[in-house]
Amino acid sequence: MKSFDVPIIYRSPLISAIKRRRKQTDRLKKDFAPTLLDFGPLRIFLSRHFGFCYGVENAIEIAFKTINENPGKRIFLLSEMIHNPQVNADLQAHGVTFLQDTQGRQLVPFDELTGDDIVIIPAFGTTLAMEEKLRQIGIQIENYNTTCPFVEKVWNRSESIAKKNYSIIIHGKPNHEETRATFSHAARNAPSLIVKDMQQARELAGYITGAKPLSHFYSEFEGRYSVGFDVKKDLERIGVVNQTTMLASDTQSIADFLKQVMMQHYELDDSTIEQRFADTRDTLCYATNDNQTAVSGMLEAEADLAIVVGGYNSSNTSHLVELCEQRLPTYFISSEEKILSATDILHFNFHTREEILASDWLPAKEPLNILVTSGASCPDALVESVINKLVGYFPVTKNVNQLVEEFSGY
Ligand code: SF4
Repeated sequence: MKSFDVPIIYRSPLISAIKRRRKQTDRLKKDFAPTLLDFGPLRIFLSRHFGFCYGVENAIEIAFKTINENPGKRIFLLSEMIHNPQVNADLQAHGVTFLQDTQGRQLVPFDELTGDDIVIIPAFGTTLAMEEKLRQIGIQIENYNTTCPFVEKVWNRSESIAKKNYSIIIHGKPNHEETRATFSHAARNAPSLIVKDMQQARELAGYITGAKPLSHFYSEFEGRYSVGFDVKKDLERIGVVNQTTMLASDTQSIADFLKQVMMQHYELDDSTIEQRFADTRDTLCYATNDNQTAVSGMLEAEADLAIVVGGYNSSNTSHLVELCEQRLPTYFISSEEKILSATDILHFNFHTREEILASDWLPAKEPLNILVTSGASCPDALVESVINKLVGYFPVTKNVNQLVEEFSGY
């Protein structure tokens, strides 16, 4: 895969050495077992895959290149470029201004922009309406578009489903930038609808089968269906795509469920289901798949707790947390600063969307086994900082530099 020019401050000598070593010994990415960092009384099991993905590195490279090549120009980002507070703060420190927040609320009025300004499109992509608005102001977006190719792949998949006259069901978070962008692109080609979870898929099934009054659809799915959506006609043939960072098992369950609903309602079987349900695989990206599979591999290690590092509004990170917390105490932190001491930690509960203080979070046990991973928008340097902080609480028999040497093969 292409390598990108990403600021060195985001890299970590330890993590780079580990990733290099794992890549050399497992070129085909078949081994999802974690890497053991054995510090004696502390043992860290580091996930096989985590950290910056292709789309994030691509976006960071373009953003910093744009800053370097355009001194004196006003540079805006449509919204957070990726869901990581450190990266976004660094861009702002380099003079970049955000036009909108992650919910799409305006921070800088569009009428303050001129054709001389630069506006960077984030890795999630944006809506067709936004592209048009920027073009009307005279802003060139092509050179500063960091939309991830794996997001564009979902748009292409939607288009091919639309060409076969299926409506498009998008499994995603309705307010997430990527889902809003995908919805916009899908709706250009076919009637489109967003479902956020299995509960909503079940409600949708009620409209497909006629079990629910059709008139209720428009209030129940308000803001999540395309203009002119005809609940009677547009649910007769459907295909499912998804936000690239959803939980793989959730998307699979929703697609399987809707397929069964169509089969039963229209009395179809495997040979005829294509009449009503598009035969597609999920549109999760490679990083989501690798990171989630690696977490499953990591969870096979006997461990006392897990730490997941990443931005609190990061969709892919929250799904890694979801997988871990089903098995053991899990702490979702945005940086090592959240580890206040060996007894106190501030961590994010993504169900209630609040940061909470936990005490006595490190069990008095030797050795203590901790699982560690991070989201696709989290710099490896942050993960190394977390490891360094943990190491500081134990009388370790080995330090981080020794591990760097071991993994580098010195
Ligand atoms: S998580 Fe996947 S789709 Fe999103 S930016 Fe990374 S590679 Fe692209």
